[in-house]
Amino acid sequence: MIVIDGSEGEGGGQILRNALALSLVTGQTVRIDNIRANRSKPGLMRQHVTAIEAACTIGSALCEGVAVGAQSVLFKPGRVVPGDYRFAIGTAGSTNLVLQTLLLPLLLADRPSRLTIEGGTHNLHAPPFDFIDRTFLPLVQQMGGHVTARLLRHGFYPAGGGRVDIALEPSTLAPTEWIERGPLVGVSATAVMSMLDDNIGTRELASAQAILDWPEQAFRLERPPRPVGPGNVLLLEAAFEHVTEIVTGFGRLGVSAQSIGKQAATRMMGYLTSSAFAGPFLADQLLLPMALAGSGRFTTVTPTKHTKTSANIIRRFLDVDIRFERLSNEAFLVTVGR
Ligand code: ATP
Repeated sequence: MIVIDGSEGEGGGQILRNALALSLVTGQTVRIDNIRANRSKPGLMRQHVTAIEAACTIGSALCEGVAVGAQSVLFKPGRVVPGDYRFAIGTAGSTNLVLQTLLLPLLLADRPSRLTIEGGTHNLHAPPFDFIDRTFLPLVQQMGGHVTARLLRHGFYPAGGGRVDIALEPSTLAPTEWIERGPLVGVSATAVMSMLDDNIGTRELASAQAILDWPEQAFRLERPPRPVGPGNVLLLEAAFEHVTEIVTGFGRLGVSAQSIGKQAATRMMGYLTSSAFAGPFLADQLLLPMALAGSGRFTTVTPTKHTKTSANIIRRFLDVDIRFERLSNEAFLVTVGR
């Protein structure tokens, strides 16, 4: 049995999700202690409980200790059974983080699956659906993953009610190298406004526009059809030939629309002025599929604690070496291999 200390490194929920995915793929039993020890409210939140229950369901697993607030969980995987599944988080917890747990075990299974996940689709501290769809999954597809995602309804905190559909076909992942991002082919800045005054989005866009040298027509408001509750997200998207980076700003109480636009645009400028392929979030998410492919390389901006922690969890389950090498002030090379 592998024992993981959830307080290690970043000490957040990602340790749990990576450990569950790796346990399902490798068949190794795992116990995770001190879950989310570095968060202000440690232990499992509703969204993590759904991720574990979903992993139990698809992996015919035995799970002990699963409850909101629990800080230790034992997970004994069985066989991954592909099929049609629907998981509802029951709160606005992130659907995309539940997907992080299930994606690779189902992709590497021997029959197709279809997943419906309900909850939040655009959450603070989680990949928004757009990032999954246009940043992360295209790279998994390049590795050989047959997977597509559809956003059926937006879900924001606190109402939730969002819905995503994922179609997966049996796949083999191949080693890949992503060193250059290639030329810039398109940019867009979208303020998604759900049941909120357009004025908020207009101010977010204006303050982003003051920093980004992007054409006027790249900036727009979007109102999701059939909104379930109020919510706002600013999506700044830069599409290069080989990768698309999406930087997100979340509208929330107590933070002005101007500062959301400014912060997001400043982070986008940081990525644009570096030469790295992967932004900070993509880097931690790419490690798992790349390690399951056996090897690969990519360049990234300075690796985050999330990325270093992901690498440590992966090394506990798989016989791979993950190395970080500084190439310049703002670019690192990540090499995954044996
Ligand atoms: P916790 O409350 O413990 O932090 P968590 O379950 O939200 O719980 P984290 O360990 O912080 O977990 O992991 C968050 C994940 O979401 C990481 O994989 C990170 O790359 C991703 N993520 C966070 N913000 C963004 C963003 N703006 N764009 C893309 N991905 C993001």
